[in-house]
Amino acid sequence: MTSAAGVVVVGGGQAGFSVVSALRGAGYDGPVTVFADEPHLPYQRPPLSKKAHTEPDGVRVDLVPESFYRERDIELRLGEGVTALDTARRTVVAGTGARLPYEHLVLATGARNRPLPVPGAELTGVHALRSLDDALAVGRALATARDVVVVGGGFIGLELAQVAAARGAHVTVVELADRLLSRAVSPQLQEHLRDRHERSGVRVLTGTAVQAIEGSQGRVRQVVTDVGALPADLVVYGIGAVPRDELARDACLAVDDGVIVDEQLRSVSDPWISAVGDCARHPHPHADGLVRLESVQNATDQGALVGRRIAGASAPYASLPWFWSDQGDIKLQIAGLRAPSDTVRLVAGDSAERLAAYAFRDDRLVAVETLNWAAEHLAARRLLERDTPVRAADLAGSTLGALARARRNAEVRA
Ligand SMILES: Cc1cc2nc3c(=O)[nH]c(=O)nc-3n(C[C@H](O)[C@H](O)[C@H](O)COP(=O)(O)OP(=O)(O)OC[C@H]3O[C@@H](n4cnc5c(N)ncnc54)[C@H](O)[C@@H]3O)c2cc1C
Repeated sequence: MTSAAGVVVVGGGQAGFSVVSALRGAGYDGPVTVFADEPHLPYQRPPLSKKAHTEPDGVRVDLVPESFYRERDIELRLGEGVTALDTARRTVVAGTGARLPYEHLVLATGARNRPLPVPGAELTGVHALRSLDDALAVGRALATARDVVVVGGGFIGLELAQVAAARGAHVTVVELADRLLSRAVSPQLQEHLRDRHERSGVRVLTGTAVQAIEGSQGRVRQVVTDVGALPADLVVYGIGAVPRDELARDACLAVDDGVIVDEQLRSVSDPWISAVGDCARHPHPHADGLVRLESVQNATDQGALVGRRIAGASAPYASLPWFWSDQGDIKLQIAGLRAPSDTVRLVAGDSAERLAAYAFRDDRLVAVETLNWAAEHLAARRLLERDTPVRAADLAGSTLGALARARRNAEVRA
């Protein structure tokens, strides 16, 4: 049953797109409206940090062409941000003053970059990297940059460091923590990653704090750290993101570093409101408590689940989390969720470039991180998705690929 009010999605990114395409795919025939504060068609963010983008026309990052929305009667209100929710009247209020009632509201507002809290962060030549417009600005700056300082050794910073190095720039990554990707990747794999970045010519300074950015005539000239000054004509920072949950907070919905939702991704405060993607904090069978994940898989699968639920098919959210990051010729892939207390075993593949870190909890495989070993990543996803128990002993002298094949053959024979 649909009503005239229909579905309103706030946020035209990966998750918002997934909601509306699943809604129509599942036969929902009520009004569907997407408010998107960026002027662009919904686009993918992963390519933004994996190559240098210079011309808007040369960037092919749209998720689907405009005709997709037109043909499915999905109203895209591009460049129109929502500024308030009136939950009592089930209405959204846009910055333009427009008000639109909803039957179901989906918050898909993503995350914003954590600002760089040092003097000089406003100088010309200092960039964050989150939106298409950011990527175009960074791409133009990379065309002439010689000394690039990347502040933050996370996924986005490391990807961009490789892009800059491939263009011949001198690149230094400055990371406050003692290791690269300190929260996202097991310590066992971090050292190998660092080694590979250094071998490709990227200088890595860990345990190093940026104190200030200095310039002349408004342009960046150097980055001052606690171990000395680094010349810089381009600074790109990626020091984490914070969820865009302010609409929910202002509307008195439960929020704690993300909009808190139940296993069906409904706000725990209001059953007519759901939240998906980077802005949602949700229970997950693979996590101990609530998690907020920033990945394409999470945004896509959560959006699809909510779209299908509104159209009539409800199920708890339980998709296996997985992630990838391309850092030059390093392909890092992660399946499952590792906790700091898990036991990790590092195993080399048949070539020196291939590595896998297997994380076990109570002698049960819970997550796998791989470097340049796509087949092992895919096998990990197959086994973890099917909840097939894998113990450390099962992997002695074997790989997940071999194990998955052996189990499949045994099933066929049985
Ligand atoms: C540079 C970069 C590289 C990445 N690379 C990878 C990768 O390799 N692999 C991977 O798995 N993940 C990657 N990610 C993460 C992935 O892109 C995100 O997890 C995913 O885009 C989240 O989707 P989302 O829809 O929740 O948020 P977003 O895609 O960020 O979309 C949210 C949209 O909502 C809009 N919005 C916010 N508030 C309002 C409002 N009040 N009114 C209207 N619109 C609003 C925002 O402007 C934005 O356009 C990357 C992210 C970035 C930034």
